Amino acid sequence: KNVDQAYPEDLEREYTVTKKTLGVGSFAVVKECIRKSDDKPFALKIILKKVIAGKEHMLTSELDILKSVRHPNIVSMHALYESKDAVYIITDLASGGELFQQLLQKGSYTEKDASNLVRQMLEGLAYLHDNDIVHRDIKPENLLFDTANDEDSKLMITDFGLSKILKHHDDILMTACGTPGYVAPEVLLQTGHGKPVDLWSVGVIMFTLLSGYTPFWGEDQASLFESIMSGKYEFDEEYWSEISDSAKNLIDCLLTFDPAKRITAKEAMEHPWITGDQEEAGPRT
Ligand code: ADP
Ligand code: MG
Repeated sequence: KNVDQAYPEDLEREYTVTKKTLGVGSFAVVKECIRKSDDKPFALKIILKKVIAGKEHMLTSELDILKSVRHPNIVSMHALYESKDAVYIITDLASGGELFQQLLQKGSYTEKDASNLVRQMLEGLAYLHDNDIVHRDIKPENLLFDTANDEDSKLMITDFGLSKILKHHDDILMTACGTPGYVAPEVLLQTGHGKPVDLWSVGVIMFTLLSGYTPFWGEDQASLFESIMSGKYEFDEEYWSEISDSAKNLIDCLLTFDPAKRITAKEAMEHPWITGDQEEAGPRT
């Protein structure tokens, strides 16, 4: 047993924490654990309390809401434990890894495969938004496949709602987690942080899935932010000539600069590129 890691007693009564680390994020370490009653595997997300310093009062109320969230495309929370230094959240296990990793491996996706992935993101988001939960940190690292070695594995959104507690505004500018290329312009301009920010992020992801590169770019963080805040991006012929107008249209709807005019998750689910309704307008197979 790891001596420098004492888990709360009530956690250890219900779960055995294994040695396997599933991932490390900007705030959390995620380990695998097994529920003793039925040997079912779960993920254990450990968040050190120092990263929520000053916002402890939000933690319980926020997590109570998040605990009630149940949707096939969302990683659910099952239990919550606390020690002096950390918060421990038991969630669904998503064994298939990050979309980020798969994207790096594949380079890019066919329209049919991308449509299937974007639809699942939209379904999860529509549910969260219906429940007035804004994710605020949609990116390929926070999209996990349910099962490994399975072409048809479902995609699940993780890490939702927590950004409210974990992040201060300034942290976006000083983030340690790499380039925040998925963040909406109104977040950088500090003019808004409602549901539309999530749809912007889906737009950036959809662009990236189809082309293998991101729509906004900069040598350093300052120029990346300038690029995002300009709202300008292009479908470079070299990479986009084979991609349908329907796909480009949906990207334009998602990467609409004005959050009030941006497409919603529900509306996007009705888009022909997602429904595949009209052969002409739907994703190419
Ligand atoms: P952070 O809030 O620090 O970003 P995340 O919840 O995103 O933490 O978790 C960090 C990483 O751990 C993820 O990118 C993923 O690789 C892995 N991970 C998180 N949740 C799970 C899970 N439920 N099942 C499997 N792996 C997970
Ligand atoms: Mg994360």
